[in-house]
Amino acid sequence: MAIKEDINGLVRLQEIDSRLQEIEDKRDVLKQAIQKVREPLNALETKRDAVTERLESLQRDTRNLEGSAAELTARIQKSSEKLPLITTQKEYFALQKEIETMAREKERLEETLLANMGTLEDLQKEAVDLAKRCTEEETNFVTRKEEMERDAADFDAETTALSQQRKSISAGIDARYLAHYNKVVLYKGSPVVVKIVEGNCRGCHMTLPPQLFNDVRRGDSVITCSFCNRILYVES
Ligand SMILES: [Zn+2]
Repeated sequence: MAIKEDINGLVRLQEIDSRLQEIEDKRDVLKQAIQKVREPLNALETKRDAVTERLESLQRDTRNLEGSAAELTARIQKSSEKLPLITTQKEYFALQKEIETMAREKERLEETLLANMGTLEDLQKEAVDLAKRCTEEETNFVTRKEEMERDAADFDAETTALSQQRKSISAGIDARYLAHYNKVVLYKGSPVVVKIVEGNCRGCHMTLPPQLFNDVRRGDSVITCSFCNRILYVES
């Protein structure tokens, strides 16, 4: 009987859809598990980036300070050369004072530079150490991820096979029933094709009118539940 074949096709379709959903859920779980496994690497990368940023910023500051110190050295040099050529005592003292001020400033810069050198050395060591730890942790993460994804490769093969089966089964089902199935699955989810058990719809558990039950048994057409719109069938 054609209706029986349609119903059988829809039941098979439903089984395929529920397995596809199951695979999809497992993929989500796997994705979350992989994200969790990556957390230590994320934390290390954040730390490494922060240290690198501090290091680069300090390197920039240091270069600027070195520039200022070199500029001061040149100015001190120039002023010192000018000093013997000055004729008045007032101008001589003024320039001498200026040179002393510049020398003090230069000394202050050099102290800062010296302190920076120590910090730079520490930061460089820390950056190298963090980069090494990141590489190690990344290798560890990739290994674990590959292990975890081995199952997903099976999922891919199964999904492809099921999708092909779904296509060929769909082609054998009356287009109206297939459209109804697709519509209900969208609104209510699986199952769409439900058994009648002791006069009740297995989808919504409402008691069906006896006439509806008889119509389903007769199997002249596909009958839907008057309460939930799911496709009904009886086991024969
Ligand atoms: Zn129902």
